[in-house]
Amino acid sequence: MGFKEFFNQDIGAGMRAAREARELAKDSELQRTCGRCSTVWYVPADLKAPSKSEMFSAKLGKAGADLSLISFSRSRKQQKVNRLEDKAQAVKDEARCPSCGSGSFTETLVQL
Ligand SMILES: [Zn+2]
Repeated sequence: MGFKEFFNQDIGAGMRAAREARELAKDSELQRTCGRCSTVWYVPADLKAPSKSEMFSAKLGKAGADLSLISFSRSRKQQKVNRLEDKAQAVKDEARCPSCGSGSFTETLVQL
């Protein structure tokens, strides 16, 4: 198997894993319980901070696109970076107790 086949296979496996994770997260929520005031709140299970590698590849893609003359692809990649940064911000917002603002909580995954 050549490098190219190996590379494609790897991407295919990664995409499958991402799709399976999404399927799994679709029907579940994270139940969070504040460690200070015991308020319980729920966040979508797929609202997880984008992984470092996800951010890295998006930024790498953006840097690469900046050198490219294809503006369509550049704006799409820029959108992806923005979405990831929004998501990271949303994750941060959800990581505090809505009642007392404490960042200390326990969480359990619950099926809907
Ligand atoms: Zn609280």
